[in-house]
Amino acid sequence: MKEGLELLYTLQQQDDIIARIENILKEIPIEIKKLEKERDSKASIVQKTRTKLEQNKKQREELEKQILQTKEKISKKKEQLNKATTNKEYQGFITEIKYEEASISSIEEKIIEKMIKSDGVMQEIRENESEYNKIAEDYNKKIKDFTTDLEYQKIKLKKETIHKSEIQSKIPENLMKIYTNLFTKKLGKAVSYVETFFCEICNMKIRPQLLSEIISNKKIITCETCGRILFKKTEDENSKNQTQKIDAKSC
Ligand SMILES: [Zn+2]
Repeated sequence: MKEGLELLYTLQQQDDIIARIENILKEIPIEIKKLEKERDSKASIVQKTRTKLEQNKKQREELEKQILQTKEKISKKKEQLNKATTNKEYQGFITEIKYEEASISSIEEKIIEKMIKSDGVMQEIRENESEYNKIAEDYNKKIKDFTTDLEYQKIKLKKETIHKSEIQSKIPENLMKIYTNLFTKKLGKAVSYVETFFCEICNMKIRPQLLSEIISNKKIITCETCGRILFKKTEDENSKNQTQKIDAKSC
């Protein structure tokens, strides 16, 4: 039974590794989406200045149209001027023509103002674009790193799953059944490690009698509180680990 329990504990550790990878695999696409969204929201600044430029262009076109209309008015007035019969009528047309000509000048001034503004907006677009490109490059790099990690984790998951099957193949069928049942019921935690006198998962203190039964490794002992299989490394194993640690240190 001792070997069986050890194998169950090894299997639990392997399942923990797999669960961690699966969690990472779930989180990475979320992170990528978040970065993409942030990056694209930065692009809207560039879009806003482009809209500003479009508006400026439309306003200039509108003003140019006004000039054409005014010029038409002037030529009509000039025709009427030629047909004027009295001096008063003649003077009246002259005043009107002068008024329209003055309004053309003021519209032209407005157009020049808009053109100067448009130069400013174009400069703004160039600045925003270069800023956005820098930000986007940064975001794209992060996204690429996450994508690379995602592929790596997928390969890792395959390897660890194969390793899990190898462990499973060594476990007797009856023990495997108990494990699988608990694994499903206890949300992926079927075996709880006992470091001192406590169940590692639910933190309840284990009665001395039960503890000695766990150490004897003769049968499956479950936690009286959470129902998980309790496993504790025996003395000789601990000392084996100790020796390994010392060996590692002396190397
Ligand atoms: Zn417990």
